[in-house]
Amino acid sequence: MTTHTLRVAIIGAGPAGIYAGNILGKAVRDAGGTVGIDLFDTLPAPYGLIRYGVAPDHPRIKGIVTSLHEMLDAGSIRFLGNVGYGTDLSLDDLRAHYHAVIFATGAIRDAQLSIPGAELPGCFGAADFVSWFDGHPDAPGNGPSTPARSP
Ligand SMILES: Cc1cc2nc3c(=O)[nH]c(=O)nc-3n(C[C@H](O)[C@H](O)[C@H](O)COP(=O)(O)OP(=O)(O)OC[C@H]3O[C@@H](n4cnc5c(N)ncnc54)[C@H](O)[C@@H]3O)c2cc1C
Repeated sequence: MTTHTLRVAIIGAGPAGIYAGNILGKAVRDAGGTVGIDLFDTLPAPYGLIRYGVAPDHPRIKGIVTSLHEMLDAGSIRFLGNVGYGTDLSLDDLRAHYHAVIFATGAIRDAQLSIPGAELPGCFGAADFVSWFDGHPDAPGNGPSTPARSP
């Protein structure tokens, strides 16, 4: 009997993408099948906002990186960083190479803030601020530069 490997792409290597890959891999193995999962992220390193969003003074939350790391190390997930959906990869590319695609791209931008003064200098969205605080590769070194978005 020929055994086929289920090929799955996951876009976004934050906790949602990694947990989804881990649960899927376990479910397929428990059913006697084999699975190969490619986990893509625009960033060079995994863990999404756990790495770049959660503040450094929340070590307990940051600690889930240890569990996520173990899931990535378990064997069926391959991480491919510096690859963005919509820039480096299209849906046609993914459809040509995978049986299924999971999008787990999170919420990387601040929501619009509709309060007076939101556009003033010195008013920043939390995502911009913590990106700088956590050393996100796209954040300017001298602090957040864009005011919170207003309508
Ligand atoms: C500003 C901020 C601060 C937070 N602080 C805390 C905190 O202190 N404590 C706490 O418990 N929780 C905090 N959270 C919540 C926590 O970070 C999120 O609940 C969690 O990270 C969501 O996981 P996720 O996998 O859905 O998304 P994310 O962690 O956002 O991961 C999504 C991943 O998808 C990637 N991606 C996006 N678009 C593309 C694309 N086109 N192609 C390829 N990859 C892509 C991103 O680079 C990212 O790595 C914070 C959230 C924010 C926004």
